[in-house]
Amino acid sequence: MRTQPSTIEYVDEKGTPIRVVRSAKRKKTISGAWKQDTMVVSVPAGLTEHAERLLVADMVKKVMRKVARGSATDPDAQLAARAREMDAQLFGGRADPSSVSWVSNQNRRWGSASLNSRRIRLSDRLRAMPQWVQDYVLAHELAHLVEPRDGHGPRFKAALSRYPRVHDANIFLSGVSHGYHAAAKPGAHAPGDLPLGGEDDIDDFDDLDGGFGEFGQAAG
Ligand SMILES: [Zn+2]
Repeated sequence: MRTQPSTIEYVDEKGTPIRVVRSAKRKKTISGAWKQDTMVVSVPAGLTEHAERLLVADMVKKVMRKVARGSATDPDAQLAARAREMDAQLFGGRADPSSVSWVSNQNRRWGSASLNSRRIRLSDRLRAMPQWVQDYVLAHELAHLVEPRDGHGPRFKAALSRYPRVHDANIFLSGVSHGYHAAAKPGAHAPGDLPLGGEDDIDDFDDLDGGFGEFGQAAG
């Protein structure tokens, strides 16, 4: 029996939600792409169900491989994956950020978290630093989403203390900031000394204005 133009949805054996769009206009070509959380595969109508099943499975595999390759080289995808992993390990997934990305216009801050949109952004200056330092800033921003009403208060600190190298990372980053201060000319503006556009609920995780003092861990 040959298929008619229609759309069917199911979940495959690996748990991937699949939508198959059978189109009368399509003659031979098949395409596949993620749309939100669903893998959408467009196929010509009029195939046998058996042929369609094989072609769809093949296309799903291809798209999955492409996505895997993409996230291996896409720094934002890598960072988002790291954030999910850390959120699961440290906070049982409670931070649940909506997006996590590197930004280059955030020179005065190591990181920020928007409590409304749940977006996390890290300064790409961190990318030259050790993984455990990057992880610390990520843990800091995730902890803000876990304890959104606590600022840098005791509950926030308790959450953040699940990250094992808070102390070391503060020392490392204080050292970097100190060097940055020393290199700046008196009266000069820090590069990129601009507020992030339009969001009023951004956490300022300053690296230039003594933002680390509150942790009580000065570097010597
Ligand atoms: Zn903070």
